[in-house]
Amino acid sequence: MSNQGRIVVYPGSFDPVTNGHLDIIHRARHIFDHVIVAVTQNSAKNSLFTVQERVDLLSAALKKEIRSRSVSVDTFSGLLVDYCRRRRAVAVARGLRALSDFEYEFQMALMNRHLAPKLETVFLMPDEKYTYLSSTLLKEIVRLGGDVGRFVPAALVPKIRQKLAGRG
Ligand code: ADP
Repeated sequence: MSNQGRIVVYPGSFDPVTNGHLDIIHRARHIFDHVIVAVTQNSAKNSLFTVQERVDLLSAALKKEIRSRSVSVDTFSGLLVDYCRRRRAVAVARGLRALSDFEYEFQMALMNRHLAPKLETVFLMPDEKYTYLSSTLLKEIVRLGGDVGRFVPAALVPKIRQKLAGRG
C-alpha cells in the first residue's frame, strides 16, 4: 500500500455516482497519488442501488483511472477513521456544494479529527454546474422522465433508468 504514495479516501453513499462526485474525484487526483472511492455499507439512507451496484457504476465511470491505478473503488463498514487507518490514507476528501452541506460536514470532520488526530479532511468544491446536483435529485429527474445527460456519464443513464423502472 505504501508504494501508492499519498492516499486519500473519498467516502460516500454514491447512490448512484454523479458527475459531481466524478468532478471531486478528479480534483482529488491532482492533489493525491491515489484516490480510494469508498462506498459506505452502513448508510442510514434508504438506498436505491445495492452496494455492489454502486461499486459497479463507479467502476464503469472510472475505468480509465482504475486502469492507470490512480483510483480504486472499495466498500467499507464501521468507522471511517478505522478504514482510513487500514488503508494508510493521509486524508479524507469530501465535496462541498453549498452552505447547506457545511454544518454536517464540519461536525463530521471535527468528530473524525477527535477520533484520528492525524487524519485530515479536505473539502473540494465542484464546478459550479454541479453545485445543485445530488444523487437524490438525479433519481427524481430520471423517475419523472427528465434528461440527465449532463449529470451522469452517458453510459450509466440506461442502467439508472432500468433500475428505477424495475422498481415500479
Ligand atoms: P453521503 O451520504 O456521505 O453524503 P453522497 O454520495 O451523497 O454520500 O456524497 C458523498 C460526498 O460527495 C459528500 O462529500 C458530498 O458532499 C459530495 N457530493 C455529492 N454530490 C456532489 C456534487 N454534485 N458536487 C460535489 N460534491 C458532491
